[in-house]
Amino acid sequence: MEDEIARRAFTRLFPEEDCKYSFRVVYTGRLKDYGANVSFSSRSMEFKLSRKWYGISEEIQMGIMQELMLKILKRKKKSLYVDLYNNFVKNLHLAVPKNDVDPFLQQSFERINERYFLGLVEMPNLVWGRFATRTFGSYDFKNDRVTISKVFQDIEDPVYLDYVMFHEILHKQRKFFKSGNKTYYHDKRFKMLEKVFEDGERVEKELGRVVGGVKRRRTIQKKFLGWF
Ligand SMILES: [Zn+2]
Repeated sequence: MEDEIARRAFTRLFPEEDCKYSFRVVYTGRLKDYGANVSFSSRSMEFKLSRKWYGISEEIQMGIMQELMLKILKRKKKSLYVDLYNNFVKNLHLAVPKNDVDPFLQQSFERINERYFLGLVEMPNLVWGRFATRTFGSYDFKNDRVTISKVFQDIEDPVYLDYVMFHEILHKQRKFFKSGNKTYYHDKRFKMLEKVFEDGERVEKELGRVVGGVKRRRTIQKKFLGWF
């Protein structure tokens, strides 16, 4: 059964080794879509997989399990299954429903898509995150979703939002590449492509200051409200 998938993942990854582990696989609704983790001791490995994994082909599930095994055992090894898993993740966006699109963010997406991607990028889910002043945005491959800090709701000039949107959409387009157990997102080519954004260096420099301004205004407002 499911536990057997984990055992097979191990024996195919390390065919020359005796397997001293017992395996358990649990599907749970508590993890992010297509998330997974493993807890282990010297004799056992327990894999928790998001419910979304249930029913996905066994080879691909073996890939995610092997990737986790390599991580916890600190080993390096090539595996067809791990490659399959990574390709699966890279193509997930095609199947993910796009039903979570904020209209304000959509406008920003459309501006940069027209201007820098010839309108060729398929729109991802676009949502507001927390009021974060350090991480401005992120892209989640598994949900095909861009999350943008609420800070940008308070910045009038749209160029800053567009700059962050551009960065995240580059992630969607460029995906990631793996070398050993490491995943790279901001490789050399990514940084080169990032330079295409018009006036990007100036915008990047100003961004910290502009966000700092919003933060200050917000603290003052809060204090003011506190007096009444
Ligand atoms: Zn990034």
